[in-house]
Amino acid sequence: MALSALDMFSIGIGPSSSHTVGPMRAARAFAAGLDPQQLQRVARVKAELFGSLGATGVGHHSDTAVILGLAGHDPVTVDTEAAPALIEAIRADKTLCLGGRKAIAFDPAKDVVLHRRRSLPGHPNAMTFTAWDADGIELASDTLYSVGGGFIVHAEALDAKLTTEQDAVHDFTSGADLLAICAANGISIAEVMRENELGWRSESEVNGALLHIWEVMQQCVENGCARTERTLPGGLMVTRRAPALRDKLRRAEQEADASGTVDPLWAMEWVNLYALAVNEENASGGRIVTAPTNGAAGIIPAVLHYYTRFVPGATDEKVIEFLLTAAAIGILIKTNASISGAEVGCQGEVGSACAMAAAGLCAVLGGTPEQVENAAEVALEHNLGLTCDPVGGLVQIPCIERNAIASVKAINAARLALHGNGEHSVSLDQAIETMRATGADMKSKYKETARGGLALTLAQC
Ligand code: SF4
Repeated sequence: MALSALDMFSIGIGPSSSHTVGPMRAARAFAAGLDPQQLQRVARVKAELFGSLGATGVGHHSDTAVILGLAGHDPVTVDTEAAPALIEAIRADKTLCLGGRKAIAFDPAKDVVLHRRRSLPGHPNAMTFTAWDADGIELASDTLYSVGGGFIVHAEALDAKLTTEQDAVHDFTSGADLLAICAANGISIAEVMRENELGWRSESEVNGALLHIWEVMQQCVENGCARTERTLPGGLMVTRRAPALRDKLRRAEQEADASGTVDPLWAMEWVNLYALAVNEENASGGRIVTAPTNGAAGIIPAVLHYYTRFVPGATDEKVIEFLLTAAAIGILIKTNASISGAEVGCQGEVGSACAMAAAGLCAVLGGTPEQVENAAEVALEHNLGLTCDPVGGLVQIPCIERNAIASVKAINAARLALHGNGEHSVSLDQAIETMRATGADMKSKYKETARGGLALTLAQC
């Protein structure tokens, strides 16, 4: 069993893969799992959110995500523009169409419970769903865990490494394995991934799915730049910067064309814009590619936009190569550490995305597998120890800006690696293990609970 590139990139809804996408999937799975007899009898359903989900669930829209999921909506297809009105209707009517199949009484104020100080053993992001009949007899109950990147699992799968596909052509669980496979077969990291993908689906399906991912990333940037609302939702009154910044950059570009002067760091301005646009869309519950999480969803699109806009020779094939390479690094991190802020802090989210983007860029710029591994390692190493401290439990401060900074860092990591020959002191495997160990040592207040770091400092000001 193995992970696919399509596990690392999935289309969803903001603002969080673990706290929005995962809970929506879990709630939908619970509703869909009720058999026709149970469904006929069910009169009440309750969703309970524990740990980090309970602590930051309002800011992360976990509560509304489980309502939408119970109503049968899916993160991939839910209409993000219509979702707020759907939720309002359920709150007002106190009625929910369970799984889209049966209307039941449902009061979100009572039937969605966020346990702010209670956790379940096993994982910080736990959810329990229970259904009863009209006499109060329990019909079904299920506990699921949202383990990052939108993945949901039952308790027995928590220790198993997450897998979604049958045996891979090339089985790798470490960076060393991956490099050995490349060397033995004379192929790139992207080709290793491609051969695995072709074991599970046709070439046109693989290419089509990855190019669709890229299309959604581009649309997300467009959406983020086109917004007319001045601030983001949630109460922090964070200003949307992408629309004004794009106008400014376009004007400056025209002036530069006229004067013939070019800012040597011009591309960086656009990289910042791309990341800000995606993460502002994410913060407002827009359509997002989870890459590999929502909080860090701006980095890979920003670096890929940089590549396609500023590096000559970008093609669809190169975009696919970028995404396959980035996915390989994400799989290594997910397999051996975590991509979840609730498990290891922001090093697992922004650090992972930064490493993935660095690897993807290094590959399409002609890097060898060793240089690609080096690029990923440099990017990850310089995010080690990064805590998760979202102010107000919202994925806004520091998340949005952090994506812009990490996007530039990923480009720098790729360039540093390309100047070397792939030999370096710290291996990617060692950086990943360091991240895992650092995350294990990190206090829970720095792991997506909004009880430490900036979340605390700003609350006290
Ligand atoms: S601080 Fe990092 S890990 Fe935490 S919510 Fe923001 S982006 Fe995600």
